[in-house]
Amino acid sequence: THFGFKQVPKQEKVALVRGVFNSVASQYDVMNDLMSLGIHRIWKRIAVQLANIREGYHVLDLAGGTGDLTILFEKRVGKHGEVVLADINSEMLRTGRDRLINKGLSGNIRYAQVNAECLPFADNTFDCVCIGFGLRNVTDKDAALRSIYRVLKPGGCAIVLEFSHPIDPITEKVYDFYSFNLLPKIGAVVAKDEDSYRYLAESIRMHPKQEELKTMMEAAGLERCEYFNLTQGIVAIHRGYKF
Ligand code: SAM
Repeated sequence: THFGFKQVPKQEKVALVRGVFNSVASQYDVMNDLMSLGIHRIWKRIAVQLANIREGYHVLDLAGGTGDLTILFEKRVGKHGEVVLADINSEMLRTGRDRLINKGLSGNIRYAQVNAECLPFADNTFDCVCIGFGLRNVTDKDAALRSIYRVLKPGGCAIVLEFSHPIDPITEKVYDFYSFNLLPKIGAVVAKDEDSYRYLAESIRMHPKQEELKTMMEAAGLERCEYFNLTQGIVAIHRGYKF
């Protein structure tokens, strides 16, 4: 299938990823709950806990989409802090902004349409940069990690929350059946879009394993890198610091 992105030229991949998120933007939140049985909310909470956010912090929620992580960060940074919700896709960003405004959140939140590979922020801007379920879709992941490193303040941390690889064979079997057989069917019925959800399953399989991503983060300059497996490795949170 053409969703195996290894064979697809870079420009086409960028356009494909954009298409995927344009077509799912409106059903995105419903699908997240449905696909993960609501567990993504717990994964996100843990990611924010691991970021050790203090009042007054400046946080970048990169590939922030409809803003789930921004909502969690916003509470912690307080009115003197700031969260920038940043995404490459204007539809996702618009959906996110409308949602946050409807929740009455606005004072300490800003919005930016950005590509993670070349962030338009000054060096040493953020106390924390978090990319949640986003790095997988980025074409040049090393460039994104270097860009994240550059905009972090010394002492700041990078958090990568992403689907990863099951750590035991039984989970792997169940998960494979779920994602290649059930998931595309759920996608077809709920979001009327089977292909996007087939792409999701394939992109997860192609994403670097836990150790490999850790090595990539170190190569980008991050230090004290470690990861935490959640739900038997179906998701992993990587954390690294800039010193
Ligand atoms: N972080 C949100 C969450 O966890 O609910 C949204 C995750 S969503 C699966 C992935 C997001 O990454 C999409 O909104 C997509 O537009 C964005 N994205 C994909 N490639 C990107 C890039 N190169 N730079 C910034 N955002 C990107």
